[in-house]
Formats: sequence, structure tokens, C-alpha cells
Amino acid sequence: MSAENIPHPTDASIILTYRCPMKCKMCNIWFNPTKKDAEIKAADLRTLPRLKFINLTGGEPFVREDLAEIVEE
Ligand code: SF4
Repeated sequence: MSAENIPHPTDASIILTYRCPMKCKMCNIWFNPTKKDAEIKAADLRTLPRLKFINLTGGEPFVREDLAEIVEE
């Protein structure tokens, strides 16, 4: 199969942050929180291929102060 014949992805999950205030016992994401300035930005989403569905996840996505901008993008 050549590269041109590989279908484009239709779905993606994007981890917006590894920060989370909940600290659930069964989860280790919050042990290594990302730094705010190193997290994916709304402008970065423009580099993705055309997708039908994007799952915005974390960590806790609602800690992102720019979540509205990300969702709009
Ligand atoms: S990311 Fe989800 S499971 Fe993990 S600590 Fe936060 S709320 Fe709990």
C-alpha cells in the first residue's frame, strides 16, 4: 500500500492538559501536570488534517483558560 492510498483519520483525541485538580486514586495523569505554556494551543489545531470528530480530553480540560477559543477552532 502506498502512502497515497492510506486513508486519512476521521477521529482524534486531543489531550489539552495533564493538569487536574481532582487527583483520583486510580489515575496517574495528575502526577505529572503539564506546564501551561507547553500545552497545545488553538492555533496548533489548524495543522491537523480535516477530521469528523475530535474528543477534547485531559487531565481536566476545564482548567484551560482558553478552552472557548480551542472549542471554537
Ligand atoms: S484526569 Fe480524570 S481520572 Fe484523572 S484525576 Fe482528573 S478527573 Fe480523575
